[in-house]
Amino acid sequence: MALTEENGKVCPDCGVPRPLTEFYQIRAARYVGGIRYSASCKMHQKIRNAAARKNAAPDSGTRHAIRRANKRWADSNPEANRDSQARWRKSHPEEAAEAHRRWQLANPEANREKARRHLRKKRGESESDA
Ligand SMILES: [Zn+2]
Repeated sequence: MALTEENGKVCPDCGVPRPLTEFYQIRAARYVGGIRYSASCKMHQKIRNAAARKNAAPDSGTRHAIRRANKRWADSNPEANRDSQARWRKSHPEEAAEAHRRWQLANPEANREKARRHLRKKRGESESDA
């Protein structure tokens, strides 16, 4: 099927005409049908979005910027971070149990190793005794 103005557009990053199905639909009330299409094709839009997240200014308030700021704080304040996490677990026991369960499912090997360490410690063996 030939591409026309109606069913295709040119991605500025590829520079080639592509069918509209290769562009993201974006809700936009002012546009015909209440949607518009992303400027770049899906592949290039993904790259652009990832770069925008990565380059978001620390004070931009985006969740990626906030997460990076929190991570920086946690890395430079390990003790305060441990205390903060412990307080959160204490005040959110069900969410904490659920998060722990998810971690166990996602990290079976690390979980077994943790259990082995715990048993060794309980038996009074040192880390080096296997
Ligand atoms: Zn493209």
